[in-house]
Amino acid sequence: MKIKPHRIHLRFYEELNDFLPEEKRKVSFEHLYIDRTSVKDVIESLGVPHTEVDLILVNGKSVGFDYLINVGDDISVYPVFESLDITDVQHLRPKPLRNPKFIADVHLGKLTRYLRMMGFDVHYKNYFDDDEIVNLSLTEKRTILTKDRGILKRSKVTHGYWIRSTKVREQVIEVIKRFNLKNIIKEFSRCIDCNSLLLEINKDKILNELPSKVAGSIDKFYRCPECKKNYWEGTHYQKMLSFVNNIKERIFDQ
Ligand SMILES: [Zn+2]
Repeated sequence: MKIKPHRIHLRFYEELNDFLPEEKRKVSFEHLYIDRTSVKDVIESLGVPHTEVDLILVNGKSVGFDYLINVGDDISVYPVFESLDITDVQHLRPKPLRNPKFIADVHLGKLTRYLRMMGFDVHYKNYFDDDEIVNLSLTEKRTILTKDRGILKRSKVTHGYWIRSTKVREQVIEVIKRFNLKNIIKEFSRCIDCNSLLLEINKDKILNELPSKVAGSIDKFYRCPECKKNYWEGTHYQKMLSFVNNIKERIFDQ
């Protein structure tokens, strides 16, 4: 006996299309299934992690991730809306974490340093495995930043974001926009090596650690209480400042 597959239709909205092959983007497409499964399984089987989804409408009605699909369902899948004026829907994403804190996967060392430079709290170790990242994100209430969408498909994960761009400047902008961080940028407030908050320090206390040229020309210094790295506004600082200003121009311009 031949088993006849059932058919449903799906359509993904906005940036959720980033996960789909070209022919499935921004159109309603047919999906065939044999066994009845949850809508969450269908969505993830198409490559879209559940952490990216905030609203699912089936035949116009809002449903949860555990909804079991039915023959002929017409399914619309939405990401987080900037502003949503539809009431009476079931939001699937937990509320954004109030103090945005992140944990980045091992491939995002460069992004980590730039986000710290902008003042954001990013936990990162180049030896973390996926289990450690997931557990730390739960215990320390951190949002996972990753280029590996597999980790976001784990059912334990509540807060995560898949980084789209491969260029670090664009990645920083993506994170600021997605988590609406533009008004809490505090550049040069955090150690880019270890993530601790910097403290101002009297030059006399670190004089023996400074290059003589720096000691002679600069008066204001900051120090990391954790890893003891000193920071000052030298030539490297000017380069970082232009990076920060460029990012700000771009996010405040829109
Ligand atoms: Zn440090």
